Amino acid sequence: MNKNKKNNKDKDKNQKEQNRKLLLSLVGLMVLIAILIVGIVIYNTKSVKEEENTLAYTDLIKEISYGNIEKVELTTGSKNAKVNLRNEEEEKTALIPDTEAFITLIQEKVAEGNEIELIQKPQSFIAQLPSTLFSILPTLIMVALFIMIFKMQGLGEKGKVYDETERKTKVRFDDVAGLEEEKEELIEIVDFLKRPEKYTRMGARVPKGVLLYGKPGTGKTLIAKAIAGEADVPFISMSGSEFIEMFAGLGASRVRKLFEKARKLAPCIVFIDEIDAIGSRRSSNSGAETENNQTLNQLLVEMDGFGSEETIIVLAATNRPEMLDKALLRPGRFDRQITIPTPDLKGRLEILKIHSKDKKLSDDVNLESIAEDTAGFTGAELENILNEAAIVATKAKHEEIENDDIEEAVKKVTVGLEKRERVISDKDKRLTAYHEAGHAVVSRYLPTQTNVKEVSIIPRGVAGGYTMYKSNEDKYYISKTEMQEKLIALLGGRAAERLVLDDISTGASNDIEVATQIARDMVTKYGMSDTLGPIDFQGKEPYEMQMFGENIGDKIGEEVKTLIDTAYNDAIILLKEHRDKLDKIAETLLQKEKINEQEFNQIFEQE
Ligand code: ADP
Ligand code: MG
Ligand code: ZN
Repeated sequence: MNKNKKNNKDKDKNQKEQNRKLLLSLVGLMVLIAILIVGIVIYNTKSVKEEENTLAYTDLIKEISYGNIEKVELTTGSKNAKVNLRNEEEEKTALIPDTEAFITLIQEKVAEGNEIELIQKPQSFIAQLPSTLFSILPTLIMVALFIMIFKMQGLGEKGKVYDETERKTKVRFDDVAGLEEEKEELIEIVDFLKRPEKYTRMGARVPKGVLLYGKPGTGKTLIAKAIAGEADVPFISMSGSEFIEMFAGLGASRVRKLFEKARKLAPCIVFIDEIDAIGSRRSSNSGAETENNQTLNQLLVEMDGFGSEETIIVLAATNRPEMLDKALLRPGRFDRQITIPTPDLKGRLEILKIHSKDKKLSDDVNLESIAEDTAGFTGAELENILNEAAIVATKAKHEEIENDDIEEAVKKVTVGLEKRERVISDKDKRLTAYHEAGHAVVSRYLPTQTNVKEVSIIPRGVAGGYTMYKSNEDKYYISKTEMQEKLIALLGGRAAERLVLDDISTGASNDIEVATQIARDMVTKYGMSDTLGPIDFQGKEPYEMQMFGENIGDKIGEEVKTLIDTAYNDAIILLKEHRDKLDKIAETLLQKEKINEQEFNQIFEQE
């Protein structure tokens, strides 16, 4: 009871405190308003006082025509004139509606022989302060409001793009690893930017636009900057998504401004990232589409507009070339297209070398083997791995980045962070051990599958465990046999669960997803089904599918299912045959949680 009362009292106190604060701020606000009002009143009374000495404009004109005016004094920016009448001591003020017209009038009178002294004074800022302030105050408030609104919509920030990108870039071709052929193709652009007259003199049609195709992180922006850097010209950039605005017409005006700027800075590079955001096919007529059309049309107009005398090269990047409007690809626009591929083994090694330059690497680091393990990685991902490795090394209190730190970073990026603290029941551990052992053992007996590099039942990311394979040398083609065996390897986990535990788990969901996708591609994309033949069934409209017969959907389904069933059966057969190895690997995993390549191979070599 007592305590409650005390609490209530405290609450009351708090309430009073709050009320007082509220009152104080209200009083403060009122004082401010009062000051403002007093200011206005003083300002106005000043003009009232002067009223006795004012002269109406019409009267002033009359007095001028009578020849009664001796002197007129005007201050620039002010509409008040000081007037001296010939026969009066007192100076009068007159409000001039149009000062320019008034000055002309006086000058005419003077020319006619009237004796009027005209004095034009430059504006004294201090003297004009109150009136200027009062007159621009509403404008200031409006501007402040607009800025606030724009900031909230994130527009203010985007506006800055123009200024920031004006700077010249320090990126050079040497900073771009691999991509030798692409650089060679682009060196011509650099040459053109440096010596345009050499080309125009020969009557060569000058390149205008170059489209860079490639996955995110493959170095499109980097290479565009390198061109600007090599040619020592400004790099003006904008992202396609920034052109898409909520206000109609703003996208188009942004394009216009971008090119206005480019013309001023020419020779220069204009870089439009994510051009698919504005340059996607003009088709439907929804609101957003129409807006995009305007933006796209403006871009086409600008690109058609500048001639050979303006040395502007427009570079654009996209990872969805199939989305682009064909109009963009016509001659005189983006008539050059360069594909920026994901780096091959040599490229990856060079990228790793470039990005490890500024890092402290231990002598044991083997970048070649890291490059081998990262097939399919982009430049941005490789750079990220080295950054992660530095973090891993710091956490482990290593003096330098060691090879293990980089390998850990690769796993962190690919499978997720190792979660040693997560508590796992013995039952789950056993399930994971057999599941992973299933993948590993099956792969060991499949000729096309790469060697096992590591098997682990320490959870990582969302995975309960993982089996890592040594990556193959980079390949352009994958055979049907290899795909079939990939399916067997993928389903090896589920097969082991079935065989040993006589039950199956959700742990195989990702394997199943990947396997299904591969099997579907085999049938519908790569024409690998004997019954259906080499036909592309992907992305077809229903009426197009009907060409292949009424039940084509069912047939495709059957084929996909046959591929999966066969692979699953093959996995079960392999595991039954090598049950001893399966048990041995699972046991070892339960003991050590992780098996490396040598330990894994040893188990198979000892008979
Ligand atoms: P994109 O524009 O294709 O998405 P970026 O050019 O923005 O890719 O690449 C992001 C980062 O990845 C670059 O700043 C660079 O650090 C690194 N990178 C990508 N490709 C390469 C490469 N070929 N050589 C060196 N670094 C690269
Ligand atoms: Mg980019
Ligand atoms: Zn699995």
